[in-house]
Amino acid sequence: MSGASVKVAVRVRPFNSRETSKESKCIIQMQGNSTRLTPEDPCFASQNRVYNDIGKEMLLHAFEGYNVCIFAYGQTGAGKSYTMMGKQEESQAGIIPQLCEELFEKINDNCNEEMSYSVEVSYMEIYCERVRDLLNPKNKGNLRVREHPLLGPYVEDLSKLAVTSYTDIADLMDAGNKARTVAATNMNETSSRSHAVFTIVFTQKKHDTETNLSTEKVSKISLVDLAGSERADSTGAKGTRLKEGANINKSLTTLGKVISALAEVSKKKKKTDFIPYRDSVLTWLLRENLGGNSRTAMVAALSPADINYDETLSTLRYADRAK
Ligand code: ADP
Repeated sequence: MSGASVKVAVRVRPFNSRETSKESKCIIQMQGNSTRLTPEDPCFASQNRVYNDIGKEMLLHAFEGYNVCIFAYGQTGAGKSYTMMGKQEESQAGIIPQLCEELFEKINDNCNEEMSYSVEVSYMEIYCERVRDLLNPKNKGNLRVREHPLLGPYVEDLSKLAVTSYTDIADLMDAGNKARTVAATNMNETSSRSHAVFTIVFTQKKHDTETNLSTEKVSKISLVDLAGSERADSTGAKGTRLKEGANINKSLTTLGKVISALAEVSKKKKKTDFIPYRDSVLTWLLRENLGGNSRTAMVAALSPADINYDETLSTLRYADRAK
């Protein structure tokens, strides 16, 4: 998808035990850039393949000075967290740990008396349009979203921690993921109903030893594990659940509208168009990572099984609108 504003990838996970026990058939056929819903022998991409196809390119864009955003979309259980985080203990690291590891490799390779780098991370969860700081769990979970006149939308009081190695980031990610699980349990919820946004602010400083002048390039890398896209009506939701479903749908619908509007702008080579960033907290906070000076990639995560036909079709439709 070179040239377009959003790079879209489709990933199918292997059958889970429930699908196997129901003797589900694989209904996904992939050929080149097209994905079809017809019976097929399954074919799965490894964590490395997914990182090489998506993460590597986005990291290069960050080094070029772009803001980048990678998000995983799909129904609960389709493989979003596996794609973004993966399972480190089983050497199946996802996009986020692999990208962070390569970020520090590149920094160490390129660091010299001319070039210096700094990295800061934050990790938040958005649940029902409210923001919780996963790196400061004492913060009970309703941080204010504000707008800086120059830097754009931001979350007030969100922890931003400086890190100097991959191990630093890995420790923070672990702590954040634990905080996410604890918060969900306390609220009698599952984290599949919230969006997790991991942000890396990456600064490259170039110092010209002859003129003694310095220039700085700042890139924001946002890595997003979205809430499950299943529709509220298909899960028999009532009361809080229904409201929650409506809020999740609102963020996901707005995100869909924002990226398809951006795709339109890019196709028509128009400069401006109305982009409804403000309609959800998620899109508002991602504004600087989606439009303008940025590169976006989306991974649509799919179950291979015929029993998930409706959700799979709806995920593919969403992915198609982003192209
Ligand atoms: P989601 O985040 O979309 O709710 P998960 O990433 O938690 O889904 O995936 C559900 C289960 O399937 C997990 O146990 C995960 O380890 C497994 N899984 C998902 N994708 C893959 C894959 N591509 N290969 C192997 N296991 C996978």
